[in-house]
Amino acid sequence: MKLPIYMDYHATTPVDPRVVEAMLPYFTEYFGNAASRNHPFGWKAEEAVETARQQIARIINADAKEIIFTSGATESDNLALKGVADMYREKGNHLITAVTEHKAILDSAKRLEKWGFEVTYLPVRADGIVDPADVEKAITEKTILVSIMLANNEIGTINPLAEIGAITRKHDVLLHTDAVQGIGKAPVDVEAMNIDLLSMTAHKIYGPKGIGALYVRRRKPRVRLTPIIDGGGHERGMRSGTLNVPGIVGFGKACELCQQEFEVETARLRRLSARLRDGILSQLDDVHLNGHAEKRLPNNTNLSFAYVEGESLLMGLSDVALSSGSACTSASLEPSYVLKALGVGEDLAHSSIRFGLGRFSTEEEVDYVIEKVVYHVNRLREMSPLYEMVKEGIDLKSVQWTAR
Ligand SMILES: *Cc1c(COP(=O)(O)O)cnc(C)c1O
Repeated sequence: MKLPIYMDYHATTPVDPRVVEAMLPYFTEYFGNAASRNHPFGWKAEEAVETARQQIARIINADAKEIIFTSGATESDNLALKGVADMYREKGNHLITAVTEHKAILDSAKRLEKWGFEVTYLPVRADGIVDPADVEKAITEKTILVSIMLANNEIGTINPLAEIGAITRKHDVLLHTDAVQGIGKAPVDVEAMNIDLLSMTAHKIYGPKGIGALYVRRRKPRVRLTPIIDGGGHERGMRSGTLNVPGIVGFGKACELCQQEFEVETARLRRLSARLRDGILSQLDDVHLNGHAEKRLPNNTNLSFAYVEGESLLMGLSDVALSSGSACTSASLEPSYVLKALGVGEDLAHSSIRFGLGRFSTEEEVDYVIEKVVYHVNRLREMSPLYEMVKEGIDLKSVQWTAR
């Protein structure tokens, strides 16, 4: 077993060697611009792009023509929200999303509020799930778009997209989903779920960084968008800029592999996550699982270790790559807004660790991490006066704390 161990697959993934191999010829040999229509260099690049488009479309049950390439899911989320808001402005000025969404959604929504749109931020249940009934209640005459993520990047909770899609379709409102974390790990079907726009990115599914896509439905209904980048009119006029051909080839190959290995890989990840969770819970008390117990990504385990600072625990676990709270907010010491939204108290939120397993995780690594976590949590708790008081049977809520 090699150290350090990578257990932060929600933040990014290594590129699968089979993906690298597929990409390599497109840097040197087949380097053409896919928009060059007059010579074989361009044709070869375009052919590779179209193959990838099909591989990507297939994993979400879409048509290749409905895939728009972007620089990643942040851009796809921005394009979906801002592009729809601007295009459908005449129809209405109201959007609906949820408080646990990724910052790429929340900050795009905030920008739209500055531009005069109204946004409803739905709460989530204590298990992290968006209640479809809340979506329906929030829809008004003015609503043009609902954006609800497929699976959460911190707690792994999977939202009932098919139920939400039935509601948005009934009310003639467009549905966007940030499906980044769900691709290859949970079933995604834009037809069965009535999804109209969908964001994805290659680097969370063993492809390269800096390449993503936005699925934009072409029929029933035909979705239109105002581009946020102007230029040569590539990608059906929705996203200008020379295509990143090697990146796209890698993205396509990554999707193909995820689809081929879906059953075996999700079962394996589910087993490894259960081993990790049970290994820790059976040896430590006062550990809480955040998010829904079953409706979650097979690779996600988010645990709160009461009476232990998450940051101190991570310091002890210096040979394991993990996240406390979200990767995107770990630079600040604010407790995770996602955990807060579940009603997890500030103390417990600060004691949370996200374990993200992936394609290259092994049983041996999981066992090593269990042993280290149990050791360091016990060590830190031994130094904690709070934990000592709890063990002596003192109810912390009854304690009269005096300020110094
Ligand atoms: C990683 C992530 C993003 C951002 O994707 P990039 O391709 O890195 O811009 C968006 N949404 C979710 C849920 C993510 O996990």
